[in-house]
Amino acid sequence: TQQQGEAGYTFYSSEMNKRAKEHLRIESELRRALAGGQLLLHYQPKVSLRSGRIVGAEALIRWRHPERGMIPPGVFIPVAEETGLILDIGTWVLEEACRQIRDWKDAGLDAPPIAVNLSSRQFDRNLPHRVQEALEAYRLSPDRLKLEITETLLVRGPDQVIPIMNELVAMGLALALDDFGTGYSSLAYLKKFPINTLKIDRSFVIGLPTEENDCAIAQAIVTMGQQLRQEIVAEGVETVEQMRFLRNLGCDQLQGYLFSPPVAAAAFEQMVREGKRL
Ligand code: C2E
Ligand code: CA
Ligand code: CA
Ligand code: CA
Repeated sequence: TQQQGEAGYTFYSSEMNKRAKEHLRIESELRRALAGGQLLLHYQPKVSLRSGRIVGAEALIRWRHPERGMIPPGVFIPVAEETGLILDIGTWVLEEACRQIRDWKDAGLDAPPIAVNLSSRQFDRNLPHRVQEALEAYRLSPDRLKLEITETLLVRGPDQVIPIMNELVAMGLALALDDFGTGYSSLAYLKKFPINTLKIDRSFVIGLPTEENDCAIAQAIVTMGQQLRQEIVAEGVETVEQMRFLRNLGCDQLQGYLFSPPVAAAAFEQMVREGKRL
């Protein structure tokens, strides 16, 4: 009826209003967080399924809010993407990862390459220059850094994206395709891009080894990656059964709570020093 419709509309618009306000609040607080040192990186190890050793790590951003505690990226990265703040945050992440790698080097730690997540919005002509600057500022060789990109970037089309990717690869950086399988990239399409690592999305790992569809998808991704000579990393691995299944498929690396959640830099350093193994 009319009344219900009106009530529904009122409710809807006040909900929208609330969300818009929440958005604005996060945006202005995030600006302050970036300037005020409230952002930090955690590190999640990637382990080789062959040797069981730590062979890399992914840097994941965290926001330590003075009143509301640790805020996960799922809450603020989307807002940062919408407002464009992700550009400054992304530059900070690159810098901070490089600073940390230098710090570890100076402390005599043989740290593995660190992968940094890139928003599609960061992927422009200036990106290679920004990466170069961060590497130079901390006197790092480019093979210390990896870049994780998503399929949303690939849908822009090869002509826009490949020249920038080629520049990064020529500099000596490795590119990983994150959350693989959630987008629409086909084998034929994928091979156009100079990508050397595929990360199997957690949504396909969850159902292993019992869900037939997930098993088939994981198998297909590994087979395809091997044909393209790409390294395959499975993300979100939580159980021994998942690990065994992935190892049998020929998957190269695993990342997930089974080995370690993302941890603070000091805790990651500790794991590397101890030579923690799967
Ligand atoms: P992602 O790149 O797919 O990162 C993997 C996410 O899975 C991380 O969530 C990680 O903590 C979580 N994870 C890892 N292993 C497991 C597991 O075994 N089980 C479960 N349930 N989860 C696991 P996190 O840290 O909350 O990050 C969420 C997303 O935020 C990331 O997804 C990435 O898209 C984005 N993000 C994080 N840091 C950055 C950053 O520095 N820049 C950009 N642009 N995005 C970032
Ligand atoms: Ca990632
Ligand atoms: Ca991922
Ligand atoms: Ca994911």
